Amino acid sequence: MAASMSFALLLCLFFLGGFPFADSYYIAYNTTPQIVPDKINVHLVAHSHDDVGWLKTIDQYYVGSNNSIQGACVQNVLDSVVSALLADKNRRFIYVEQAFFQRWWRQQSDAIKKIVRGLVDSGQLEFINGGMCMHDEASTLYIDMIDQTTLGHRFIEHEFGQIPRIGWQIDPFGHSAVQAYLLSSEVGFDALFFSRIDYQDRIKRKGLKSLEVVWRGSQTFGSTSDVFTGIFPENYEPPSGFYYEVNDDSPIIQDDSNLFDYNVEQRVNEFVAAALFQANITRTNHIMWTMGTDFKYQYANSWFRQLDKFIHYVNLDGRVNALYSTPSIYTDAKHATKESWPLKTEDFFPYADRKNAYWTGYFTSRPTFKGYVRAMSGYYLAARQLEFLRGRINSRPTTDTLADALAIAQHHDAVTGTEKQHVADDYSKRLSIGYAEAEELVSSSFACLTESTSSTKCEALSPSFKQCPLLNITYCPLSEMELSEGKDLVVLVYNPLGWNREDIIRIPVSTASVIVRNCKGQFVDSQVLPILNVSQEIRKLHAKAYLGHSAGIDPKFWLAFPVSVPPLGFNTYIISVGGNAVAGRPVMSKVYESHNNVVVGQGNLKLVFNEGSLSRYVNSRDSINAAMDLSYVYYSGDDGSGTDYQASGAYVFRPNGTYPIEQRKQKSLTIMQGPIVEEVYQEINQWIHQITRLYRGKEHAEIEFIIGPIPVDDNVGKEVATRINSNVRSDRTFYTDSNGRDFIKRVRDYRSDWDLEVNQPIAGNYYPINLGMYLSDNTTEFSVLVDRSVGGSSISDGQIELMLHRRLLHDDGRGVAEALNETLCINKKCSGLIVAGKFYFRIDPFGNGAKWRRSQGQELYSPLLLAFTEQNGDDWAKSRVTTFTAMDASYSLPENVALITLQALEDGSVLLRLAHLYEAGEDKDLSVMARVDLTKLFPDKKIEKIVETNLSANQQRSEMERKRLVWKVASSPDETRPQPPLRGRPVDPLKLVIELGPMEIRTFLVNFSFVSVL
Ligand SMILES: [Zn+2]
Repeated sequence: MAASMSFALLLCLFFLGGFPFADSYYIAYNTTPQIVPDKINVHLVAHSHDDVGWLKTIDQYYVGSNNSIQGACVQNVLDSVVSALLADKNRRFIYVEQAFFQRWWRQQSDAIKKIVRGLVDSGQLEFINGGMCMHDEASTLYIDMIDQTTLGHRFIEHEFGQIPRIGWQIDPFGHSAVQAYLLSSEVGFDALFFSRIDYQDRIKRKGLKSLEVVWRGSQTFGSTSDVFTGIFPENYEPPSGFYYEVNDDSPIIQDDSNLFDYNVEQRVNEFVAAALFQANITRTNHIMWTMGTDFKYQYANSWFRQLDKFIHYVNLDGRVNALYSTPSIYTDAKHATKESWPLKTEDFFPYADRKNAYWTGYFTSRPTFKGYVRAMSGYYLAARQLEFLRGRINSRPTTDTLADALAIAQHHDAVTGTEKQHVADDYSKRLSIGYAEAEELVSSSFACLTESTSSTKCEALSPSFKQCPLLNITYCPLSEMELSEGKDLVVLVYNPLGWNREDIIRIPVSTASVIVRNCKGQFVDSQVLPILNVSQEIRKLHAKAYLGHSAGIDPKFWLAFPVSVPPLGFNTYIISVGGNAVAGRPVMSKVYESHNNVVVGQGNLKLVFNEGSLSRYVNSRDSINAAMDLSYVYYSGDDGSGTDYQASGAYVFRPNGTYPIEQRKQKSLTIMQGPIVEEVYQEINQWIHQITRLYRGKEHAEIEFIIGPIPVDDNVGKEVATRINSNVRSDRTFYTDSNGRDFIKRVRDYRSDWDLEVNQPIAGNYYPINLGMYLSDNTTEFSVLVDRSVGGSSISDGQIELMLHRRLLHDDGRGVAEALNETLCINKKCSGLIVAGKFYFRIDPFGNGAKWRRSQGQELYSPLLLAFTEQNGDDWAKSRVTTFTAMDASYSLPENVALITLQALEDGSVLLRLAHLYEAGEDKDLSVMARVDLTKLFPDKKIEKIVETNLSANQQRSEMERKRLVWKVASSPDETRPQPPLRGRPVDPLKLVIELGPMEIRTFLVNFSFVSVL
């Protein structure tokens, strides 16, 4: 009552034009305003952008330690926001990063939890975006984006019964089509907001009032996947002069006339001016101010006090209407105007924040970490399947630790490589801990699944299967060691894919005198290849670095043999020491050195090498006979000494000269030939090694590259790329994937949204590659696939370029304040980091390339999982399950469908996601409706209930469809696809057949009546 009286008094005095009192008094601020239809509404959105690791680790940010690097403590944010919201029920705040929120929530008392639930229910505290982190959109795979979003969304649903409505990707460095149509529209978001787009694009959009658009990210789904998208005018911070963290220097509103520096009118005028400025570049009478930035609201009251005053005085002034708002309220207000919005298609890559500052370096930065994230992602998918097949036990080991580590690793300063070194180490450590636990789970699942007699719940913990995560450095203790007397090496080969798989596996062995048999005791063809010196060196160095001890006696050979593995199942191979036996012995590779006229390949595909390097690609089946070469270049990283001070660094790729890396002319190639695999080893120079492999039965080339340490004794940072030249007449055009999903057409030196001013002809043509890229003309397609996220381009026609490694000596001035100079240290002796990885290429007749890109892409993401145990092979074959498929023995998934999630949840239900792998029109046979028969996918389990959900599994799909906002498009160019997209029909619970149209991903929660024990 007293408050309202003072308010009335104040109002009266204000309109009389002065504050004549000499005494201070209590002012009750009127913070109630809502939207006023005929005014400019300034939606004040209080937020804090809390990176889940960047300059400090996630835990350091959470607890507020290591403050000499950055004064940031997320506990302070959440603690102080709760009390600030309680102080005035009109105040609102949005919270985004669930990795932080969950840390905080676990530590709260029941009393605080109850209060917070109340704040969430009333809408004062709203969760938006809602994933564990704000994931990057360039170097992330769509499966990881889905998983990390699901983890956060299901937590929010479970604890609060809330469904986040808004995508809030305010900081990622460019935006992907997959984010728009899949991670927004298919999640059920009503809008998506962000800030970082190309500076040239931004200027044009401001002029045309087209910062807010309807984004149609999918060609396949067309308008059914539209999402309203708001791009902030500058960044995700308040307008200049309106920052209110404790130490910020923006002028506060001083409204006590008894004190000096009274400034209400001045501040109100400045507020109105900033609002009108923004309203001038915005459609409708609603504008949003993002009131906060990185790690703000650590003392929330310092912000809310000023926001209360602005709302109060600005509305008394009356020229504009200011209100506490959230992006949901803002979105609903925009929708209610019935405005039509400009259409945006494709994506927002690459991102430049100014001339000569293309953020395309981070597509490749920290390539070994990117490789680790990708490998762990594939492993997590397989481990969840095995957790389901064995039956989930909520006590450890589970896959949950790995899930959490992977989720955090998708953050826009994690997998991007734009964090400080100690933070990158922290992400890797988390992955490693998560992996170790998942490995234990996988091992015990195999122990269970190989038990043939058990009819009760499997408790088997023996035998202990060992896996070899360090095969990439030729380290696998179990396969390398001498077998005990009477023992054999049992190799269990698990296939996480939904179709039968024929593949070649390779393991290091200490002797060529081995014999490989299948589980029926029949000999299996095999081949041994001497291990190259370069691999031995890598093994020695990295075993020491990773394990802290020497790798032991070096194995001498790679043993390669073909395996055949049923879908979602395993097969067993037994390796024994051959003694003097001749039958079944592996073929010893023919090893020789040569320089010219080298032809490798036993099948249709042959590669020809001349003058020490690749010169021709021949596929007799497809009548392809094409000149081809593969070389390396390095870009010298700009040191930032020029007039614009822009160095090349963790984010920005700013080359200062292109230097071909001449292959040592006198060096011969080392060739290994045999029936299973043929290899050509090239020492490009002292620090670049390359092995080209052709496998029996495969019609693509595998290139393994070993790059590093990149020399920097000349004080020049270097960025190393490979260039593969083909004779495809690509006419400036190439295609790159969006997060491993859709392929997007790119044209060199061109943007479809504006007339590009080209100032960086190389960096400005780089795009993120997660699956691969290809070129085509009217006769052939040339495709390259990658094993991790990298940057790529086509700088000249017919050429595909991939950047594989970067070592730089200067910071690029975007906040990380470290040069991207990764090293490997042993006993404090450090040298530049070495990256070993693979890419794959193939030439197809025009129109045939998609099949290989999609199928091989799945095989690269989900490699066969190998597990080893030392046993008596005959006994094992007699007493154990040696071949297994979880599916009906006669069944496999259609060639165009992948099982991307099969996960037993804590509550006993099962999360199932199926993905169609092809876009509409991508392949003449496979871009069609696919059908998956669940009775055959789960033959021994009865489905009691199946509910289709949205992509992040926090609401029923039908609910999401019902609530979806439909947005009007101002100018729709001719719909290229006049027919509505193909989508599967609702699932009939009796028939249990799931239909999937092109590019469709469908998510289900399934309850089985019992989980049979195998
Ligand atoms: Zn950020």
